[in-house]
Amino acid sequence: MLRIHNTLTRQIEPFEPLEPGQVRIYTCGPTVHDFAHIGNYRAYMFEDLLRRFLIYRGYKVTQVMNITDVEDKIIRKSIEQNVGIDEITAPLIEAFFRDLDILNIERAEHYPRATRHIDDMVALVQKLIDRGHAYEQEGSYYFSIDSFPKYGSLVSLEEAELKPGIRVEADEYHKEDLRDFALWKAPKPGEHFWDTAIGPGRPGWHIECSAMSMRYLGETFDIHAGGEDNIFPHHENEIAQSEAATGKQFVRYWMHCRHLIVDGKKMSKSAGNFYTLGDLLQKGYDPRAIRYLLITTHYRKQLNFSIESLDAAASAIKRLDEFVLRLQEETFPQGSNAKNNESVEHCRSQFSEALDNDLNISAAIGAVFNLVKQINTAADEDALRTEDAGTTLDLLKELNWILGFIKFEQPPLEDKEIEDLIKARNESRARRDFAEADRIRDLLIERGIILQDTPEGTRFRRKTPS
Ligand code: AMP
Ligand code: ZN
Repeated sequence: MLRIHNTLTRQIEPFEPLEPGQVRIYTCGPTVHDFAHIGNYRAYMFEDLLRRFLIYRGYKVTQVMNITDVEDKIIRKSIEQNVGIDEITAPLIEAFFRDLDILNIERAEHYPRATRHIDDMVALVQKLIDRGHAYEQEGSYYFSIDSFPKYGSLVSLEEAELKPGIRVEADEYHKEDLRDFALWKAPKPGEHFWDTAIGPGRPGWHIECSAMSMRYLGETFDIHAGGEDNIFPHHENEIAQSEAATGKQFVRYWMHCRHLIVDGKKMSKSAGNFYTLGDLLQKGYDPRAIRYLLITTHYRKQLNFSIESLDAAASAIKRLDEFVLRLQEETFPQGSNAKNNESVEHCRSQFSEALDNDLNISAAIGAVFNLVKQINTAADEDALRTEDAGTTLDLLKELNWILGFIKFEQPPLEDKEIEDLIKARNESRARRDFAEADRIRDLLIERGIILQDTPEGTRFRRKTPS
């Protein structure tokens, strides 16, 4: 059974969804004021792992990831460049989806955009006003933290200085001086705004996620995830707004990944220590190596990013590629060997047991490399059989549905390689070793090469893809 760490209880707990067989997840998505950096993708990768493992375990998953396409920095850019906010965000949203595909991150079921859900946010603010949790000040609306005694579920606020009635406009702030936060912001001159039932303005960041998550997943749902920087104030505020409005528990399990850091500092735009995915691709890195690097560190451990660690990820991928190619291309004696089968079964159970344990991906991948070692040794010692190679490849394909970085397609053969194989086939035939000659022919067919024996010698052609 899957057990996960819940930030709410600070404990590892058995995971049981509200509705049997169905998991509802909300994951905080990108603020599209600039290109995402790979620190952001660490968070999305951890959520991809969570999603894929839940599906692997047989759950139906409904995942929602918001796109924050209106906030302070976007508004500032739109004013600076004198264009609408959609013009700022459109190319960044497109780049975000392209990056997800490059990194083989599975698509969520919904990607709601904040600007397309203003009505839901206004309705939620209205509900908070009606229930006495929100108040107006010069056209803006604030959540009164004093009205919600449960405030402080995710972080300990004992040392924080509570300043009820004193307000904060900015979306991000520190808990050291805890203030009433903005739900709705009155427009400043030149700013984009919406005319609504509660007046002109735009939503605060926190209300977006409460409104959109409840819209798609209901008032209470299973998992809410994000990076550790989201815990305070973002998620704390989401709990306050949502629970104050509905009187129900908002989220059952909160999951947060630790940061991707560079030289001891969080990778971020503001610190200027970031790489985008494009930067790394330009340096020639295989997206699979980047995926490997982002997924392999347990989500509750800091991921120390360096070019050396990326190089190490690239060599791990190379090792896997060589292993897969060996299983695909070498000929092994017919039959199977019980010991190899045991290794395969052991790897399968170790892999899912590790992930059941709060997504312990490092141990899961350790089990895969252990199998690589065992099967390679068996092959070196002539103890590997055709069926063993098949079951090993089948298991890798099964696990790769979660890992997403193993490649099974073989690269097209070059003319020279084909000619060498034809030569070897002719030599086998001359020796009357027809079994070997047939093996070579079959291998070529498998790689899309058709042979034709003519009086002038053997010719080949490439099968055109159907
Ligand atoms: P943002 O676009 O800044 O709102 O962030 C989107 C997601 O990326 C959030 O879940 C953040 O917690 C996460 N995030 C931002 N920086 C990092 C980092 N350096 N490491 C891991 N996650 C991060
Ligand atoms: Zn959020």
